[in-house]
Amino acid sequence: MVPFFNLGSLNATIQSRIEEAMLRVARSGRYILGPEVEAFEAEWAAYCGTRFCVGTGNALDAMELILKAYGIGPGHEVIVASNTYIATWLAVSNVGAVPVPVEPDPETYNLDPSKVEAAITTRTSAILVVHLYGRCAEMDALQQIALQRGLLLLEDAAQAHGSSFRGRKAGNLSHAAAFSFYPSKNLGALGDAGAVTTNNQELAETVRRMRNYGGVGRLDHRIRGKNSRLDEMQAAILRAKLPHLDGWNALRRMRADFYHEYLEDSGLVLPPKDEEHRESNHHLFVVRADNRPRYLRALVDLGMDTHIHYPEPPHLEGAYADLGYGAGSFPIAEKLAASVFSLPIGYPDVNVLEVSKALSNA
Ligand SMILES: *Cc1c(COP(=O)(O)O)cnc(C)c1O
Repeated sequence: MVPFFNLGSLNATIQSRIEEAMLRVARSGRYILGPEVEAFEAEWAAYCGTRFCVGTGNALDAMELILKAYGIGPGHEVIVASNTYIATWLAVSNVGAVPVPVEPDPETYNLDPSKVEAAITTRTSAILVVHLYGRCAEMDALQQIALQRGLLLLEDAAQAHGSSFRGRKAGNLSHAAAFSFYPSKNLGALGDAGAVTTNNQELAETVRRMRNYGGVGRLDHRIRGKNSRLDEMQAAILRAKLPHLDGWNALRRMRADFYHEYLEDSGLVLPPKDEEHRESNHHLFVVRADNRPRYLRALVDLGMDTHIHYPEPPHLEGAYADLGYGAGSFPIAEKLAASVFSLPIGYPDVNVLEVSKALSNA
């Protein structure tokens, strides 16, 4: 079986740097909130172009910490995409607020700004937008709406490491953003890790406290926090990998260009191409077909592992049964969930030509 995410093969290309980083931490005697975390935070902020970065345990925590630090909780509503990964919704409900889904543009898969206005109520505090599959959302229009309606604009940038919009990087397109460094992301740790990026000093300081029981070091617990720290080992590994992120993203872009070329007449609906003002990191290359099983079978016949991002929209998951939505509540998200599937794009030995041929002959 050819794995979809061949993470070992990607990490093997810089194996010695990763091992050197791990040994450095193992021998240092500092394992939590030390110099590696501090250095990675500075390097990730510089990469994203933000003033601040605060490491966290994962992206779900990062989103929850942002919402909490802004005082969002019970009685508040937060606008989310109807077709995102469930984590975006969970962040909102885990702080006691209500996720209010808005449908995506069926061509770009990203939140449709023209549908956002109608979802805003007196309880709406924020728009938590996801850059789905690594392609930045319609940030001009969303910034406009947020500004006019006095809402916070926040990014779930968990899939958007290095993606850009009008020359600015994801993570620097809103009041605050959450990143995931889960192993399969474009910049992945060898375990769980995440971060918050922002230009707001007060928010950065509050999140910094909240990720560590509400205190600085072991002292001065002036707010109630949780334990969600980025640890030294993962920070050191991320520092070893960060210099390679742009190169890996360029390889993904090349594979995406080949898919566009080879699959032009395949009958599959392909994702939108990059535009002058919007460059994707091509985290996932997601295509659509009404007769999806036929294509998935062609990939399986090739010995490939197949993936669907995502087979069920959050409103139809048991976890959100209490919100009272059902089949037909968000038809665009439902149609996408029934027709999308992902092509391998992220690791060195993916054979774009072979995959494209198999799909074209399916
Ligand atoms: C991966 C992912 C998350 C969750 O990241 P964790 O670090 O696992 O918490 C959230 N949102 C999106 C869109 C993701 O792809």
